[in-house]
Amino acid sequence: MANKSVSSDNNSCPAVKSKVAVITGISGQDGSYLAEFLLDKGYEIHGIIRRSSSFNTGRITHLYDDPKIHQEGRMKLHYGDLTDTSCLMRLINEIQPDEIYNLGAQSHVKVSFEIAEYTADVDGMGVLRVFEAIRACKLTQKVRFYQASSSELYGKVREIPQNEDTPFYPRSPYGIAKQFAFWTVINNREAYGIHASNGILFNHESPRRGETFVTRKITRAVAKIHLGLMESFSLGNLNAKRDWGHAKDYVEAMWLMLQKDNSDDYVIATGEVHSVREFVEAAFKFVGKSIEWSGEGADEVGKEKGTGIIRVNVNPKYYRPTEVEYLQGDSTKARRELNWKPKFDFEGLVEDMMKSDLELMRTNPAA
Ligand code: NAP
Ligand code: GDP
Repeated sequence: MANKSVSSDNNSCPAVKSKVAVITGISGQDGSYLAEFLLDKGYEIHGIIRRSSSFNTGRITHLYDDPKIHQEGRMKLHYGDLTDTSCLMRLINEIQPDEIYNLGAQSHVKVSFEIAEYTADVDGMGVLRVFEAIRACKLTQKVRFYQASSSELYGKVREIPQNEDTPFYPRSPYGIAKQFAFWTVINNREAYGIHASNGILFNHESPRRGETFVTRKITRAVAKIHLGLMESFSLGNLNAKRDWGHAKDYVEAMWLMLQKDNSDDYVIATGEVHSVREFVEAAFKFVGKSIEWSGEGADEVGKEKGTGIIRVNVNPKYYRPTEVEYLQGDSTKARRELNWKPKFDFEGLVEDMMKSDLELMRTNPAA
């Protein structure tokens, strides 16, 4: 006898309920890539966005405007803020998510020195508020939680490379707030059995990276210089070294962490290190120019080989009160347990960003 609940005449499968995910920070670099990734996997996603007097959803408009996604109601945006406990409680109660990706943050290290208290409130206390909402909504055994932890926790590094056992030494209000968040995740995991994971992500960039982070600042400026729209630009500490990966690779790691039976903490990194100076050289190389450096400290300049035109200056206003000089991640655990590995290398990342910013500046020179 045919089972009434299953259609037998068109060979269709019983509907499988899609997983429901909440993304805080969906309008940011990572949030936008994660939204694409989860939609592709069939999720219903709910993004929390802040009210703003100007347009702040540019990175996700293409998803929201997609008639298929829109009509099927697979992506919904809700106004909210990590500083607003009652709103987080209400949203989590209404949505009853299977997974929460907490990517919302005041994410700029230099800015965190200027707005330290706000950074602590959003990046530190915000995480506690989400956990309080999970508990108040009685979702401790249902929901899986991802926290956007950061290599800034390592700050003044205690060992090279840094892995999950390396002691922390944060060097900014941002890093300190993220350390509070990191331990809040572990405490909720241990105290209430919540499936909660920290992804200790090293710097990751993309064409969607905020324009005041160093890589994007460089690729935008080099694109403008190449097109004759700008002569030179200024940077701060050229000697800082980072382990730069591509955001597209890193959002996959976030998802992989929540698919494991047990929650845990993972370093996500390429293991490859370059200085800011090397990033500048690679970006100029992409447009066929080489840079020769002369002078020291704040007097250093980068001149274009052949023409002698100064393309890069140092401006101490971009220095930080306390700097993180060197970050290099050891992601052995993630590669072994999550079977994660990055697809982009350093050259691939620079190429992707340069191509995109050249196109942007060609079509919109005022960008
Ligand atoms: P991002 O582009 O700056 O995005 C941050 C997101 O958080 C934006 O959607 C922003 O909204 C939102 N946000 C800011 N304040 C908020 C508040 N009070 N309440 C709710 N949402 C708020 O950062 P990202 O590069 O995508 O990074 C995502 C997360 O990973 C952040 O937590 C960051 O600290 C962390 N992280 C990033 C890196 C990296 O290299 N990218 C490395 C390690 C960790 P608006 O669009 O309205 O500003
Ligand atoms: P962070 O690692 O999260 O602080 O990412 P950033 O992209 O903001 O900075 C990376 C490194 O580049 C830091 O060591 C900065 O001091 C250095 N840097 C040098 N010049 C600049 C600049 O003009 N802007 C920014 N944002 N960083 C700079």
